[in-house]
Amino acid sequence: MTMMEMSERYDPATVEAKWQRLWRERRTNSVDLRGAARPYYTLMMFPYPSAEGLHVGHAFAFPGVDIHGRFRRLQGYDVFEPIGFDAFGIHSENYALKVGTNPKQLIPRTIENFRRQLSRLGLMVDWEHVVDTTSPDYYRWTQWIFLQLHKHGLAVRKKAAVNWCPQCQTVLANEQVIDGYCERHPDVRVEQRLAEQWFFTITKYAERLLQNLDWIDWSETTKMAQRNWIGRSDGASIEFPLAAIPGRKLCVFTTRPDTLFGATYMVLAPEHEWVEELATAEQRPVVAAYRDRVAAMDLVSRRAVKEKTGVFTGAYAVNPATGAPIPIWIADYVLAEYGTGAIMAVPAHDQRDFEFAQVFQLPIVRVIAAEGETADTPLPAAYDGPGRLVNSGQFDGLDAGAAKHAVTAWLATRGAGAARVEYRLHDWCISRQRYWGPPIPIIHCDGCGIVPVPESDLPVVLPDIDDFRPDASGVAPLARVRSFYEVRCPQCGRMARRETDVSDTFLDSAWYFLRYPSTDRHDVVMDPELTRKWLPVDTYIGGNEHAVLHLMYTRFITMALHDIGLILFEEPFKKFRAHGLIIKDGAKMSKSRGNVVNPDQYLDQHGADVFRMYMMFLGPYEEGGDFRDEGISGIRRFLDGVWRLVRELDAAAPAPQALRRATHRAIKKVGEDLEHLRYNTAIAALMTLLNDIRRLGPPDRSTIETLLVLLTPLAPHICEELWETLGHTTTICAARWPSFDPALLVEDTVVMAVQVNGKVRGRIEVARDTPETDVIAAALADEAVKAYIDGKPIRRQVVVPGRLVSLVI
Ligand SMILES: [Zn+2]
Ligand SMILES: [Zn+2]
Repeated sequence: MTMMEMSERYDPATVEAKWQRLWRERRTNSVDLRGAARPYYTLMMFPYPSAEGLHVGHAFAFPGVDIHGRFRRLQGYDVFEPIGFDAFGIHSENYALKVGTNPKQLIPRTIENFRRQLSRLGLMVDWEHVVDTTSPDYYRWTQWIFLQLHKHGLAVRKKAAVNWCPQCQTVLANEQVIDGYCERHPDVRVEQRLAEQWFFTITKYAERLLQNLDWIDWSETTKMAQRNWIGRSDGASIEFPLAAIPGRKLCVFTTRPDTLFGATYMVLAPEHEWVEELATAEQRPVVAAYRDRVAAMDLVSRRAVKEKTGVFTGAYAVNPATGAPIPIWIADYVLAEYGTGAIMAVPAHDQRDFEFAQVFQLPIVRVIAAEGETADTPLPAAYDGPGRLVNSGQFDGLDAGAAKHAVTAWLATRGAGAARVEYRLHDWCISRQRYWGPPIPIIHCDGCGIVPVPESDLPVVLPDIDDFRPDASGVAPLARVRSFYEVRCPQCGRMARRETDVSDTFLDSAWYFLRYPSTDRHDVVMDPELTRKWLPVDTYIGGNEHAVLHLMYTRFITMALHDIGLILFEEPFKKFRAHGLIIKDGAKMSKSRGNVVNPDQYLDQHGADVFRMYMMFLGPYEEGGDFRDEGISGIRRFLDGVWRLVRELDAAAPAPQALRRATHRAIKKVGEDLEHLRYNTAIAALMTLLNDIRRLGPPDRSTIETLLVLLTPLAPHICEELWETLGHTTTICAARWPSFDPALLVEDTVVMAVQVNGKVRGRIEVARDTPETDVIAAALADEAVKAYIDGKPIRRQVVVPGRLVSLVI
């Protein structure tokens, strides 16, 4: 096509359909995974394909990753940018239940719709390496990974109090419980149930998951969320001998061993296994009644309760520091799940203990005194600040911080305690009593016990069933399918029973990035050569709402597979950046608010390039922005301007020096901005460049080509079209990111001396072509100059361009 034939008006629909077709036909975005010289793996969080289709959050997240990937490609990398579908799990299943269709029929349709919408966004996705977690080709490896973890003692079955959502009718991982409520049902309180479940022992990796945060290049906010979730606390375990039972000791964990002398009573969780035995005959009835009352409460209510309740067991323990007998109580404010389910209560220095002691008139003994306080200063409330020890025998006068170690060391020498670290992180409960997931590959045999399904028998295929509804009994739907669960034991050959739980959907997504390069291999989970070449992932970008779920699990699975010897790296992503959220008119988008934006409508009306740029212009990518309709026409005008510019190009003359400077400024600025995901300011810099071309032009061919290359990560379709118009026969993706000439940047500003009544009083730095009035304004704004003028009127002003401002007062 010659320039004359090029259409007058920029029509995004035509341009975008053309290039999306050509990219497919020419395999523009397919990477030669084996032959690539400079591999760069950029990853976006693969979507769960909801029936509603793509939402605006995707239209913000994915282009943001794509822009980065395209930028890297222009820098000369072989960029692999795959996508897939996280299609197992409760979301999909619940929707299938709602519309009365089997997810096996429904999911392929929603995936197809998602593919169509995704391809409209103009992503540089390699469609030849897609994963679909519900495909047996994929989940056989999910099951295989389960077996490897099981083989290495990291997948265990145990009876545990688990979170049960009565609405989901399944157990939830701790991470799926938000302040006691179901993550999917913010108004449904999670209950506790005691059940046999499969767990991954992620707690074995707590310290490593924590330590590595010190060196991995991740968003600070994400690292902070992970640190809090792992929740390391340093303290001591201390043993309190029972007064009535010689040789038996109650063990507690405390982060405040320095306050041990102030422990005046102990509290056990009502469900602590020793309670029955400890309770004296006299107290037994009230203890039993109290336990029944608490058992009827869910965890949330227990955490929320303000009023302190409890009962005395009648038993005493001995404070190992003071030797005094102290009463043992049970109370709902101590939870069985944390530490040992028992605490030493130090009412003087812990507010909950303080309130409890006040209600039940238990002694309150101060053992820390702040500056200016003594052992006898009254305590209106618990004091948990710094200070020195008092009422603490040989430790009196010691700083509380130092006393933590001193008291612990002293206990250790007497065999009554030891330094200890506790974590808030729990093991990952991965079994779900639902249908829509990969069956856990285990067989239960009466003779042999738990028997893993032989690897050669994988996948354990999820059967087609009509009745896949979960029910309140907590029995998995597959447990109703005899043809599924009746199986011969692979070890002894007798009839046995298949595990009927399926695995948590977070397991599917904990390893998908390991699979992308190897999707052509059906015989191994990962092609060793491709894995060495492409992994770990260079840059992963996604939402911070996944900070403690998905992102913690990916790290754990990667570490586990590393230790098992399958991969050489222990952290999955060299770099992780959290992007922000798009809100609408100041509020989170939600169906109930009726402010959900459907990207299709905008893509129809404006095209992908305008929409991508508009989304990126809403705010800094890592912070997000507020979606407003106004402003989208500004982006359209900008692209119209670029379109016209190429049409009007008259390549005869070289660009003027001022324009060359402006162009090199833009190369530097846009490059730095794209590097750091500052897409909004990159767009602003491109708009400035277009204005500069109009103002300082005429542009030459090289200026226009530079503009197109800088713009192509953001608006790939129009840039391909204009690139072709300029006579190029290869994709603009194969162009090189231009380098800038530093010499053209440094001369950009000048330092000018400012004289007041003939004497130099200050210096100002201004852009070289700053108009005279602005130069004088800058001079008058200079603090040093201001001091000399002292508010007096200026009688005369002279500007010697590039050198001097002279003011006479
Ligand atoms: Zn729920
Ligand atoms: Zn057997």
